[in-house]
Amino acid sequence: MDKEKKQQPWPLIWIAAAILFIILFFFFSSSNLSPTSAEQVSYSEFKKMIEEKKFEEVLIEQNYVRGILKEKGKKKEIRVVKVEDPDLIKLLEKNNIKFSGKETDTWLRDFILAWVIPIVIFILIWRYLFGRLGTGAGITAVGRSKASLYIEKDTGVTFNDVAGVDEAKEELKEVIDFLQHPDKYLRLGGKIPKGVLLVGPTGTGKTLLAKAVAGEAKVPFFSISGSEFVEMFVGVGAARVRDLFAQAEQKAPCIIFIDEIDALGKARIAAPMGGGYEEREHTLQQLLVEMDGFDTKKGIIIMAATNRPEILDPALLRPGRFDRHILVDRPDIKGREDILKVHAKNVKLSADVDLKIIAARTPGFAGADLANVVNEAAILAARKDKNAVELSDFEEAINRAIAGLEKKKKVISKKEQEIIAYHESGHAIAAESVPHADKVHRVSIIPRGIAALGYTLQLPTEDRYLLTKTELLDRLAVLMGGRAAEEIVFNEVSTGAQNDLERATGIARSMVVEYGMSEKLGPVTFERGKKPLFLDIGYMPTTEYSEETSRLIDEEVSRIVKETYSRVKKILEEKKDKLLILGKMLIEKEVIEGDELRRLLAA
Ligand code: ADP
Ligand code: ZN
Repeated sequence: MDKEKKQQPWPLIWIAAAILFIILFFFFSSSNLSPTSAEQVSYSEFKKMIEEKKFEEVLIEQNYVRGILKEKGKKKEIRVVKVEDPDLIKLLEKNNIKFSGKETDTWLRDFILAWVIPIVIFILIWRYLFGRLGTGAGITAVGRSKASLYIEKDTGVTFNDVAGVDEAKEELKEVIDFLQHPDKYLRLGGKIPKGVLLVGPTGTGKTLLAKAVAGEAKVPFFSISGSEFVEMFVGVGAARVRDLFAQAEQKAPCIIFIDEIDALGKARIAAPMGGGYEEREHTLQQLLVEMDGFDTKKGIIIMAATNRPEILDPALLRPGRFDRHILVDRPDIKGREDILKVHAKNVKLSADVDLKIIAARTPGFAGADLANVVNEAAILAARKDKNAVELSDFEEAINRAIAGLEKKKKVISKKEQEIIAYHESGHAIAAESVPHADKVHRVSIIPRGIAALGYTLQLPTEDRYLLTKTELLDRLAVLMGGRAAEEIVFNEVSTGAQNDLERATGIARSMVVEYGMSEKLGPVTFERGKKPLFLDIGYMPTTEYSEETSRLIDEEVSRIVKETYSRVKKILEEKKDKLLILGKMLIEKEVIEGDELRRLLAA
């Protein structure tokens, strides 16, 4: 790896050292303003020397008493620390030695210690923190010092190193092609990708994928993490971004990878007063400016990764910015097997190890978790002096990993998995059974994100701006399908449907109060001024209706939800056999594609 570390600016530690040196210098040199050649003796000895008339002159200072020796040539002197001795003067007079008091020059030292040094320290710190930012050169210098920018001329990672994310790879092939032959795209005037956002939980291989794209295309890979910007001084993050793009331009074609872009592109309303807000804002602005400004023809692709797409500033997602989103999900059972294969490539496995079994035992594991399991198993086997890694080592490694993941609440028990499977089956069958719902693209029980345990992905066949009442009711039915299925299969409901119910109630409420779709209340809108003036957080609906109307609204919402629920429950009860089959299939395979589902329902 070729990490380019930028030159440090004048670091604080040198300033501190210089100050310390000045202090020590003055302290030692001025605490003793008498010549250092003075010889020190004990006070009693000194007195004896006075009696022996060895001194030509004695100088009494604030802290010392100095005696100038009578010796010819060199003017040698003896010095003693002054003690409280009222007899000294008498002794000197008695021996006829010239003496005089002398005020030591400590004012200079005192002045320097009390005034000059603090002021110098203050000025230096001030200059360091703010002064350097005053000039363009200063900003860049400090920005460069945060050596957060890494360049790899050749990542050496290929698509063979990334497994279980075939769909994402497929989508990224075009990016690779573009990086390899930018001229081809130029000539044909094709639409050139600019920003690609990789969305998915941590450890699923987003960074690895970005590196693989660079490796496949054999272009340099610039990477930087969004979270590092937040701690920087004002102006530094923006300069950093400018610097990054300037450097990338020189090395184009290349890839710029921004990890944890959510740290940088947090929606502005998310933390209006939070720390680092200003800085993040500036840096984000600069990133947008650079993205809008640079010429795609140069062959720079910006890739970014996030596991929290929902908090991203919408400005980042606009056309011409990160307008291409690629889902990098936790792998299904087949994907896990493939990932295990990648990581076990250089590990000696014993004959009893079947990676398929290990894949089956690790639902919910991300690529990074699986890499850990292989590594841990190899270490365990080595510790036991085995010649090859055995299944028991893998089992122990998996158990350890599960214990760790359980703390992070990522592991689902067998029972939970069953509930989720039938719940999702309910959504899916409902979606395929009501006339106006979007087609099911995929059903999965692989946990995704934090909120949703499983998911049923429906793809709209067309972009819709207007929805009829029947269409809304069908949407409601799909949302309620999960809970209905749980009730049919287990005769009880779990908390997993809470989010569905919330959304369903939201739709029903909108139908009543916004779209005037309730017969009882008539074609009236009750919600006005719904959008708050600023900051789209925690809005309070302006209640412009009476208690009586409010009660009526609640009644209507509840009626719509209940009626839809009975409707979908009836549909699912009629197809209970299919529901049971689908649930079982899901537990086994974890993912069912839409076409497979439709085949099952048609059978
Ligand atoms: P992310 O960026 O999504 O958090 P990383 O790319 O940093 O995840 O993954 C960390 C490590 O986990 C990788 O370096 C690799 O060893 C392993 N890993 C993760 N996903 C995969 C995958 N799909 N295939 C192979 N290895 C993976
Ligand atoms: Zn649900």
